[in-house]
Amino acid sequence: DDVISKIAAGEVIERPASVVKELVENSIDANSTNINIEIENGGITYIKVSDDGSGIEKDDVEIAFLRHTTSKIQNENDLYNIKTLGFRGEALASIAAVSKVEMITKTNKDIIGTRILVEGGEIIEKTECGSPNGTTIVVRELFFNTPVRLKFLKTPSREAMYVTETVQNLALSNENISFKYKNNGKLVLATKGDGILLNVIISLFGKQVKDNLLEVLYEEDCIKVRGYIGNNALGKSNRNFEFLFVNGRYVKNKIINSAIENVYKSYSTGDKFPFYVIKLEIDPQIIDVNVHPTKAEVKFQNEQQVYKIVYKAIQNAFQTINT
Ligand code: ADP
Ligand code: MG
Repeated sequence: DDVISKIAAGEVIERPASVVKELVENSIDANSTNINIEIENGGITYIKVSDDGSGIEKDDVEIAFLRHTTSKIQNENDLYNIKTLGFRGEALASIAAVSKVEMITKTNKDIIGTRILVEGGEIIEKTECGSPNGTTIVVRELFFNTPVRLKFLKTPSREAMYVTETVQNLALSNENISFKYKNNGKLVLATKGDGILLNVIISLFGKQVKDNLLEVLYEEDCIKVRGYIGNNALGKSNRNFEFLFVNGRYVKNKIINSAIENVYKSYSTGDKFPFYVIKLEIDPQIIDVNVHPTKAEVKFQNEQQVYKIVYKAIQNAFQTINT
């Protein structure tokens, strides 16, 4: 079982950034309005995620660390109507199998919270503990018991970059949540959580990007497209500033990406690649996000239809300024 859980952990938990993604997604699922992330040493030795969400009841704390236990699905019907980011009940178990986890959590129904220590999948300690409403999880010494995985990590500064990208994506996809993220004690980003996407973009990339951006707002066949597109004012001719979200998840998709880039190229005289943050809302029935639990790829049943609609959405944005 120990070996199996370590192998399984590798599926979900590749590096510090995957830990951060899973923990923050749990905070989002818990309806948090403030999420704080801190890492040290690229997240390899220290990751802390705290939220002001629902918290976990005392009796459910151990269960949360068991594999394939989730509070988010009660029956088979729920499986076809998933509204949360998590539902496999794998992340906490996987993280705890390959690190030293400390969790402090409290629901608003309880007066006192719970603190639990889990190391290499084993519960070391569970005690009562004073706590604000919400959950704080500290993950120390990732891969301490799987030296090979540890060896495959990049330098701390590179791992920190991956974490930063992950937090950026999560902040952009959740404009109504306030995020604060520190690396080695230094504030890297902070968002207000005021529900305004443009404010998130400004918080992450600075005021100057705003002057280059056009608003995208379009709907056809129940597919909603919204966001911003413009020149890559950040001065880099690469795809680092192309952010695509489908139903609240950061994804990669060549079809949509080429639709956006193709319109951009035909209107722009500027950089090769645009800056964009584009969000699609699509009936979950016609997409498949579960290509792989950790991969950000998404597939559509009718790719031509999605291409056409996104193309028109972006074209509309450019045509509005030219008329
Ligand atoms: P999943 O998210 O797929 O349900 P996880 O292993 O990520 O599985 O989490 C297991 C369970 O632990 C969740 O279903 C949830 O009940 C609880 N949990 C984890 N993190 C939090 C959190 N930050 N706030 C409240 N509950 C949490
Ligand atoms: Mg989860």
